[in-house]
Amino acid sequence: MTDASPTPPSPTPRGEPATASDAVLVVDGLVKRYADAIAVDHVSFDVRPGEVYGLLGPNGAGKTTTLGVIAGLVRADAGSVRVAGHAVERDPLPAQRAMGVVPQALALYPDLTVRQNLGYFARLKGFAGAEGRRVVADALAAVDLAAEADRRATTLSGGMNRRLNLAIGLVGRPRLLLLDEPTVGLDPRSRRHILDSVRRLADEGLAVLFTSHYMEEVEYLCRRLAILDRGRVIAQGPLDEVRALAGEGVVLRVPLPAVAPPSTSRSWTCACR
Ligand code: ATP
Repeated sequence: MTDASPTPPSPTPRGEPATASDAVLVVDGLVKRYADAIAVDHVSFDVRPGEVYGLLGPNGAGKTTTLGVIAGLVRADAGSVRVAGHAVERDPLPAQRAMGVVPQALALYPDLTVRQNLGYFARLKGFAGAEGRRVVADALAAVDLAAEADRRATTLSGGMNRRLNLAIGLVGRPRLLLLDEPTVGLDPRSRRHILDSVRRLADEGLAVLFTSHYMEEVEYLCRRLAILDRGRVIAQGPLDEVRALAGEGVVLRVPLPAVAPPSTSRSWTCACR
């Protein structure tokens, strides 16, 4: 990745940069405990239209659990989540209609073609006929998979399968997209393809919550981020402020997986108070 300069947030329909009051996702004081551990410990942040918000942390930090609560799949012990103005716990359906979820593991049917996969998820979301075809074509274009539309998923490369996984989350153009480590295991070219699609979608106004192990990806996509460790936010804010904390004291080392490409094979350190 050569261009690491963050893109400015998309303007709101009023023509101004999005602010906290425009947030599509508001997470406030979220807590999730399991029998022997606290997975999410008073986590708060918001995600605005046109923004890719980064949740960075090592294995077990609580990223997937946070996404699960936002998606309405995991019940929180305390705190609240609002998506497009709807409280997820009290009013899950409209909140879920406003979001697309892209899980870490591929969630698609290998024996269906790319188009059939998208058509299936479009019908599940209530899109049929000409409208269904339109949302499928839209999702294909968003991840640059139109040329592969009639190939069975099982014949696609790993990178293309990841793009199909992303496209499924985009069916129907949600206002909020939840991405759980969408580049895990990909080569640098495929990672870049995914990241550029995400960036383009945000430029068009989508609010994106992006979880990753890779500081480099967060630097590439996000102007604001939170760093999680064992469920707690240990640094949070604009990218330059979080970066500036480095060297100030407590240091988090985010171990990068062995499969990381050479450009990311460093630990990323950040001071956390
Ligand atoms: P990874 O990068 O490996 O996906 P993560 O940051 O997404 O990690 P989580 O999967 O949210 O982290 O896990 C946070 C903590 O909660 C971990 O200690 C994990 O073992 C624990 N945990 C998650 N789900 C459950 C569960 N269903 N039951 C018990 N503990 C769980």
